[in-house]
Amino acid sequence: MDYQHYFAKRISDLKSEGRYRVFADLERQAGRFPVALNHFDGGVREVVVWCSNDYLGMGQHPEVMAAAHEAIERTGAGAGGTRNISGTNHTHVLLEQELASFNGKEAALLFTSGYVANQTTLSTLGSTIPNCVMFSDELNHNSMIEGIRHGRSAKHVFRHNDPDHLDELLSAYPTETPKLVAFESVYSMDGDIAPVSALCDVAEKHNAMTFLDEVHAVGMYGAEGSGVAERDGVRDRVTIIQGTLAKAIGVVGGYIAASASLVDYVRSFGPGFIFSSSMPPMVAAAALASVRWLRRHPEVRERHQERAATLKRLLAEKGIPVLPSISHIVPVMVGNAALCKQASDLLLTRHGIYVQPINYPTVPVGSERLRITPTPLHDDAMMSHLVASLSQVWDELDLHKSHHPGVPRTAAAE
Ligand SMILES: *Cc1c(COP(=O)(O)O)cnc(C)c1O
Repeated sequence: MDYQHYFAKRISDLKSEGRYRVFADLERQAGRFPVALNHFDGGVREVVVWCSNDYLGMGQHPEVMAAAHEAIERTGAGAGGTRNISGTNHTHVLLEQELASFNGKEAALLFTSGYVANQTTLSTLGSTIPNCVMFSDELNHNSMIEGIRHGRSAKHVFRHNDPDHLDELLSAYPTETPKLVAFESVYSMDGDIAPVSALCDVAEKHNAMTFLDEVHAVGMYGAEGSGVAERDGVRDRVTIIQGTLAKAIGVVGGYIAASASLVDYVRSFGPGFIFSSSMPPMVAAAALASVRWLRRHPEVRERHQERAATLKRLLAEKGIPVLPSISHIVPVMVGNAALCKQASDLLLTRHGIYVQPINYPTVPVGSERLRITPTPLHDDAMMSHLVASLSQVWDELDLHKSHHPGVPRTAAAE
């Protein structure tokens, strides 16, 4: 095989389909979020970032930065090993205690990312519990799909957010069969939210464990911000709550929170936990400061929801086809990969607005979109500028201005 030719051919296919990925080269400016510098063709321009998953701007929060500075001066840059071999720093211990209490659970376990938390936990449970059967929402994130696949247990996929279909699939097994139901709370591409309580009802009826990915809810939902399970008052009914420290928490890393015995089990048997070096203490310290701050500041969550609602209203008034999401995520439908990329390019080059195009396989073909994530730091002036710019781009590319009808569901969110 001519390897190099093969790679080049596959890439050129991507390009001709209009879904070759180009990364915006950004330089974030601490203290100026959501403004950043964008490096391009040897030049630099200032842009307003409208697609960050640093949903609350915590990555540049003064208390979070101060904690990272303090920790690097005190402990240095790296952790020094895996958790078992010299890599457990006291800050990791404190952060796990904080995350357990944050989630109303007995214990928590840190991972180097939310992806690894999902992949490791699900594959470990699937492969080590005899005869375990997994039930997975059809729109689950790739990290859960991979975890379930690697566990090599039996598995079933239930229709998105459909407790009745889940009930039907679970009914095929006797109560004694070990089972786990995996789903997300906020789905990040359509911005819809799972009926967590109804899914727990069904799982409990069949004596199944539940695994809830709160990645797009952590920091943003519930009185203290631990997620939708807290908001809905069902945290004690969810067996495992999983989250990330990289989105609204603003740093990097992932975790699960659960009973002491389950956490000890994954700590003892999970390869992605055991064999990977721990996060630098400065990262853990920054995340700890962020979680502590978010727990005490519900007003930032109110402001965030108000910003999202305001933007959805402003876009609808202009006839921009925004999906009626019930969360902080504002998906604007384009429905074509090439046009989606062009719209994004025009916004960047003419209007100083950065919104990454979202194309297949992240979303189904025909539902390509701009996924806008307003934060508490996007002010009214930025919003009017965004809406006016989108309106101009829509006219220029002759895109539909009216409500988009039936939109295919998301396939593989990031
Ligand atoms: C981003 C994401 C993850 C992975 O979390 P990271 O900390 O970024 O690795 C897991 N689940 C969902 C739903 C995500 O969107």
